[in-house]
Amino acid sequence: MKRAKDQVSGQIGEPEPNAQGSKRQPKPAPDPAEQTLGPGLYVVATPIGNLGDMSPRALDVLRRADLVVAEDTRVTGKLLSIMGIKRPMISYTEHNDQARNPALLAALDKGQVVALVSDAGTPLISDPGQRLVAAAVQAGHKIVPVPGPSAVIAALSVAGLPTDRFMFVGFLPARPKARRDELAGLINIPATLIFYEAPHRLIETLEDLNELLGPRPAMVARELTKFYEEIRRGSLAELSNAVKDQVPPRGEIVIVVAPPPKEGIVDHASFDLDQVLKTALDQYSLKDAVAAIADAHGLNRRDVYARALTLKK
Ligand code: SAM
Repeated sequence: MKRAKDQVSGQIGEPEPNAQGSKRQPKPAPDPAEQTLGPGLYVVATPIGNLGDMSPRALDVLRRADLVVAEDTRVTGKLLSIMGIKRPMISYTEHNDQARNPALLAALDKGQVVALVSDAGTPLISDPGQRLVAAAVQAGHKIVPVPGPSAVIAALSVAGLPTDRFMFVGFLPARPKARRDELAGLINIPATLIFYEAPHRLIETLEDLNELLGPRPAMVARELTKFYEEIRRGSLAELSNAVKDQVPPRGEIVIVVAPPPKEGIVDHASFDLDQVLKTALDQYSLKDAVAAIADAHGLNRRDVYARALTLKK
C-alpha cells in the first residue's frame, strides 16, 4: 500500500531524525499550573454555545483569578460551576462600568489577577469592558488577552466570503430610519461586512441590506456551535425572500455580507443621498464632495449641489 507523504519518516507526529541521525525530542507542552500568573487584567473569552470551546488557558486563568469581573454574575456563575471553579465575582455592565472602575483599578494596583469575562464570547466585542481596559491602559497596568470564541470570527470563518478585509459593524440601530442611514454609509466600504442581529429584527434587516447594499452574496448564521446551528448562504435578495413570510427565527444570529463588486460602486436606486452627502461633507469641501458623489452614482452635479447646500443650512 502506498504510504502518505508525511508518513514516510514514520508515524504522523513522530519526531524526524536530525542531521546527525538522532531523533529530536519534542518539547513537552508547558503545564499551565506551573507557569506563574503575573498580576494584571486578563481579558478572557468564553464559549458562544459549545462548552467544548472553553480553552485550557481560560480555565487556568479563571481558576487562579483573585477576582472575576463578569457581565452577568449569574451567567458566569453557572459556567464556572460547570467547570468546578469558585472565585469571587463582581458584575460589570454598560450601566455600572464607570462606577466600578475605581475599585477594579485598586485591585490591579494591589497586584491582583483580575479576569474580565462577558456572558459569551470575547469581552468588549458588542459586550462591556472597553472602559475598564482603557482605564487599565491609562493606569499603566498589564493587560493580557486570553483569546477564544467570538461569533464574528466564527461566522466569517465559514462564510466563504473574502476575509482579507472585513468590517465588524455589530448591531445596527433598531429604529428603521437610523438603521437605513447607517447602512447608507456602508455602501462603498470595500470590505466584507459583519452584523450581529436579534432574531425578531432579521426580516426587516435583510430587507434593508438588500435594498441598500444590493443583492450581494451573503450568509446568515444562527446558533453557531450549538445544537441547532444553521447556516444559510445566498444573495441578500434570496436570503431576504427566504425568511420574508416565515415566523421570525429564534436564537442568536450573525449576518455576513460580501464587499461591493470590484467593477464599481453599487449604485442602488434607493441609496440614501443625504447620508452619503453628510458623511462626505464631514471630510471634504462642498465642491469635492458633490463632484465625487455625483460622478460615483451617475447623478446630475447641479442636483447634488442643491441638496448639499440645503443640508449645510
Ligand atoms: N461578545 C460576543 C462575541 O464575542 O461574539 C458577542 C456578544 S453580543 C451581546 C451577542 C450577539 O452575538 C448575538 O445577538 C448574536 O448576534 C451574536 N452571537 C453570539 N453567539 C452567537 C452564536 N452562537 N451564533 C450566532 N450568533 C451569535
